[in-house]
Amino acid sequence: MSRHYRIVIVGGGSAGISVAARLAHKLGGGKDIALVEPSEKHYYQPLWTLVGAGVSDKASTVRPEAGLIPKGVTWIKDRVASFDPDHDRLSLASGEELSYDQLVVAAGIQIDWDGIKGLREAMGKGGVCSNYSFETVDSTWETLRNFEGGTAIFTTPNTPIKCGGAPQKIMYLAEDYMRNKSKVRDRARVIFATPGDGIFSVEKYKRTLEKVVARKGIEMALHHNLIEIRPETKEAVFQIIDSDRTETIPYAMLHVTPPMSAPDFIKQSPLANAEGWVEVDPHTLQHLRYPKVWSLGDCSSLPTSKTGAAVRKQAPTLVTNMFDVIEGRQPSKRYNGYTSCPVVTGYGSLVLAEFDYDMQPAETFPFDQAKERLSMYLMKKYLLPPLYWFGMLKGRA
Ligand code: FAD
Repeated sequence: MSRHYRIVIVGGGSAGISVAARLAHKLGGGKDIALVEPSEKHYYQPLWTLVGAGVSDKASTVRPEAGLIPKGVTWIKDRVASFDPDHDRLSLASGEELSYDQLVVAAGIQIDWDGIKGLREAMGKGGVCSNYSFETVDSTWETLRNFEGGTAIFTTPNTPIKCGGAPQKIMYLAEDYMRNKSKVRDRARVIFATPGDGIFSVEKYKRTLEKVVARKGIEMALHHNLIEIRPETKEAVFQIIDSDRTETIPYAMLHVTPPMSAPDFIKQSPLANAEGWVEVDPHTLQHLRYPKVWSLGDCSSLPTSKTGAAVRKQAPTLVTNMFDVIEGRQPSKRYNGYTSCPVVTGYGSLVLAEFDYDMQPAETFPFDQAKERLSMYLMKKYLLPPLYWFGMLKGRA
C-alpha cells in the first residue's frame, strides 16, 4: 500500500508541530500535509527541570497530540521504519509506504538508557533519578525530598544531549533546596561530574556560572564520564577522559543525564551523516545530498545546542526556504545557530543564555542577561509555557 502527500513531516514534537502549523498557514490549510507521529502525547520538556525540583506539576507538561495537529493535516499514527530518499519514499512500521514531494525530518534525539551499565535497573530507586523523561522525572523530586545528607552527584554524558544546561540546572535547584528548605546542606557534598573541561561553553555566561558554583560550594569533577552504576553498594563509576583510569564515587543521590544519539532509524538511513544526524546545510536546513529533504531540531546535524528555543528560530527558516525551492528560487533565509539556555540557578533566579554558532551572545533583552534574575525565572515558569503551546506550536511565535 502507498499514499502520496505533497509534504510529509516525520515527528510531531516541538519541531514537527511548529513546521506543520507554519506550512498549513502558508498553504491555506493542511490537506496536502501528512504528519507521522506514533505517540498520542506531546510533552513540553523544558518544564521537567522545575518538575524535578518540585515546583511545577508534571501533568501540566503533557497534552494530547491530537489537539496540536493543525486542522486538515493528516495524522499518521505510526513510526517511520526506513527512508528511501532516492525514490522520495519512506516505510512505516506497519509496512505501508508514503511518497512525498518534500520531506521534513523532525524525530528528536534518542535516549540510550543502556549506554551506562546498570542504569536501566537502578533508575528511580535508591537515589538514582533523572529529569530526562516523563517516566523518570518524578524520581528526582522524590529523591531530593527524601535526601538527608551524603554525596549528591549530577552527571552529564560524553555525547550530544538535548538542553546542554539541564544537567546543571537541576543541581543548582537541588543545592538551593538542601541549603534553604531541607537544611541538610552542611551534611551534603554536591558534585558536578562532566566529561568536559568547564561549566559552560560561552565565555560570558561561564563567568557567572563559575561564581555560582563557587558560591554554592559545588565540587567540579571535570573529565568524568559515568560508565557504571552499582546500586547494591551505591557507587558510581567514572571513566577519566583521555586516560585508562576510572574513579568510583559512593553516592546518596545520583541525578543521571543519560547518553543520547540520533534515532537508530535515522542512523541507519542514507539521510545520516557519519555521526548519524540528518545531514543538512547549517544555514538553509536543506539536506546536503537530497534537495527534497529538510530537517530541524534535535535529530538534525545543525551544529548548535539542541533546544526548543533553537527550533523556534529554525522552523520559519525551513518553511521559507522550502517554498523558495518549490517556487524555483534559491533558499533565501539563513539560520545563524541561535539557541537559548535558561540556566535556572536556584528557586527564583535564572541566567538567560542566548547565543549563536560562533558562541557569541545573541540576546533578546536590553539588560545584561549574564546576571542572575528573578524576572527571568518567572518568565521561564509562567510565560514560556503559554508561549510554547499557543505561540510556537501554532506557528505564531
Ligand atoms: P521532540 O520534541 O523530542 O520530538 C520528537 C518527536 O519525534 C516525538 O514526538 C517522537 O515521538 C517522534 N518520533 C520519534 N521517532 C519517530 C519515528 N520513528 N517516526 C515518527 N516519529 C518519531 N529546550 C529549551 O529550549 N529550553 C529548555 O529550558 C529546555 N530544557 C529541557 C530540559 C529537559 C530535562 C529536557 C529533556 C529537554 C529540554 N529542552 C529545553 C530541549 C527541548 O525539549 C528539545 O530540544 C525539543 O523538544 C526538540 O524538539 P524536537 O521536535 O526535535 O524533538
